[in-house]
Amino acid sequence: AQERYADLRDKPATTRCGTTVSLMMNAGLMADLPSLKGSGAEGVGLFRTELQFLTRNKVPRRGELAALYARVLDAATGRRVIFRTLDIGSDKVLPYMRRVDEPNPALGWRAIRVGLDKKGVMRMQLQALIRAAAGRPLWVMFPFVAQFEEFREGRALLLREIEGERRLGHELPSSVRIGAMLETPSLAFAPRQFFEMADFISIGGNDLKQFFFAADRENEKVRRRYDTLNVSFLTFIAQIVARCEETGTPLSFCGEDAGRPIEAVCLAAMGLRSLSMRPASIGPVKHLLCRVDLGAVRARIERAGAEGEQSVRPAVIELLQNDGW
Ligand code: PEP
Ligand code: MG
Repeated sequence: AQERYADLRDKPATTRCGTTVSLMMNAGLMADLPSLKGSGAEGVGLFRTELQFLTRNKVPRRGELAALYARVLDAATGRRVIFRTLDIGSDKVLPYMRRVDEPNPALGWRAIRVGLDKKGVMRMQLQALIRAAAGRPLWVMFPFVAQFEEFREGRALLLREIEGERRLGHELPSSVRIGAMLETPSLAFAPRQFFEMADFISIGGNDLKQFFFAADRENEKVRRRYDTLNVSFLTFIAQIVARCEETGTPLSFCGEDAGRPIEAVCLAAMGLRSLSMRPASIGPVKHLLCRVDLGAVRARIERAGAEGEQSVRPAVIELLQNDGW
C-alpha cells in the first residue's frame, strides 16, 4: 500500500482549503523505526515504551533502556519522537509484576497511577530517557492523566531527575517538552493552569472514547457500538480543541481513529492539526485530506448535529462522494 501513495510521501497533508495537518506515526519497537522514512511521517507522535517491558521476563535495566531509546532517536535522524512513559495495567499486564486482582482493570491501577505510586520504575525510565537524549531534544508524555495534580507530579519528577543528572555532570537534553495524554473526559475540564503548564497534549482517542461512552474497548459486544463520528463525541473533541487554543497548547490525536481516513478528516474538521497513526495509514489519510475542504466538512457535521443525527458518517461520506471522492 505504501507504494500506492509513494508520490504523496514527501508532500505535506494540505487540504483543498489550504490547511496543513501534521501526520506522525505511532511506534513501540525498534523494528517500527524504518517506517519513519517510508511512510512520510514527520516524526513519532506516540512511542509506546511499555512494549519493551512487555516482551521481557524481568524489568529492563536503566542502561539497557537508555541504549535502546538512544537508538530510537538515532533512527529518527532528528525527527521528533514523543516517548510515552510506561502505560501498564488494564489490558497491558507485565508478566513479572504481581497481578493485582481488580474488578475493573480499565478503571484501575494503571499508567501514571502506577508510576506515581511506585516511583522507582518511573524514575529509572525517566533517567534512561534523559541520558538517551543527551544533547538532543527530549519529548516525554504521561499516559492516562485524569487530573492536573497527576501531571504536575509527573512533570516535577522528570524535572527533578534532570536536575539530578545535571548535578552528576551528565550532558542534558538540548530541550525538554513535557506533555500529557488526554484519555479521560475529566482532563478536558481541568483548570486553565493545567493547559498552561502542559507543553503539549495528545488525545488518546482509544481510551477517551471508551470512557466517553462507558463502553469497554476490549469487549466485542460493545466496542463497535458507538461511532467515533457520533456528533456528541466530535463536539467534545471540538471543546478540547477550544480549550487548547485558549492557552496556545499544541494538541494532537494519537488513537487508532486518527489512521482511518474519514475519521481523520472529521478530526481535522473539528480543529486537530496533528494526527499520529500506524505508519501504513499515513498514505491513505494524506490522500483523502488533500482532497477535502475542512470548512465544508465542519459545516456538514454541525448541520447533522442541529438536525439531531447521531452519527455524521453517512452525511460525511455523501459529502465526500459528491466531491468526487
Ligand atoms: C489511546 O488510548 O488512544 C492510546 C493511544 O493509547 P493506548 O491505545 O496505548 O492505550
Ligand atoms: Mg490509552
